[in-house]
Amino acid sequence: MLERVRGFVFDLDGCVWNGNTLSPGAAETLGRLVAAGRRIAFLTNNSRATADDILGRLHALGVTVAEHAFTPLEIIGDVITQRFGPSRVLVIGAPEVAAMITRAGHTLVDVKDYRAATVVTVGNDFDLSYERLTVASRAAAATGRLITPNVDPRLPIEGGDFLPGCGALVAAVSAASGVSPVVVGKPEPPLFRMALERLGVVPADAAMVGDSVPSDMRGGRAVGMRTVLFAPHGEPAPEADVTIGSFTELARLAGV
Ligand SMILES: [Mg+2]
Repeated sequence: MLERVRGFVFDLDGCVWNGNTLSPGAAETLGRLVAAGRRIAFLTNNSRATADDILGRLHALGVTVAEHAFTPLEIIGDVITQRFGPSRVLVIGAPEVAAMITRAGHTLVDVKDYRAATVVTVGNDFDLSYERLTVASRAAAATGRLITPNVDPRLPIEGGDFLPGCGALVAAVSAASGVSPVVVGKPEPPLFRMALERLGVVPADAAMVGDSVPSDMRGGRAVGMRTVLFAPHGEPAPEADVTIGSFTELARLAGV
């Protein structure tokens, strides 16, 4: 089946890389796919990086064929506009999140002025404090508006270890405020559709390759893509059309 796939969209964390280490064979397989005329893109739920950040990291790790990357930060400002109009946004998360929301024309609200917020955004925040958790929860409860790049519970890193993901923080704010989050990234359709459009490939001719069943497999399948579960130590899942244990296996199945 994968011999006929024209466009491959790759998840990053826990798939192409773990922390700053590429998965074995990833650079070689990606290079071979491109050399064989297949189109590739990278689609991550990373809540701290822009597309340019991601492409820079891929190039630095030796994936020089990387041209197209998509992250929730590219569209989070536009999603806020579509859902809520021009907004005063309290951001708990990385400076990159705040910068992209400002770029879309919204006003940022400082932590001490949280009562002025009309929308709350929660991304992964490596400087999280109880105070920030408190103001995010109060502002979300007051406005009923909570938006997040993703709800992934874990961020995989080197050695099979993990950090608490954006979803873990959002779950805390959601529990305290009683407000369910609007999710910008996978498994919601917009980023998948952007990637397919950029590659010029229809969903039926494209495959989503990733390690997350809830984000990658369900999200890819929902827009009509083939799904390839990257599970070097794991089990096949019913949501995946194909399960691979390595990038070398992917190259073989894709016929490159
Ligand atoms: Mg992943």
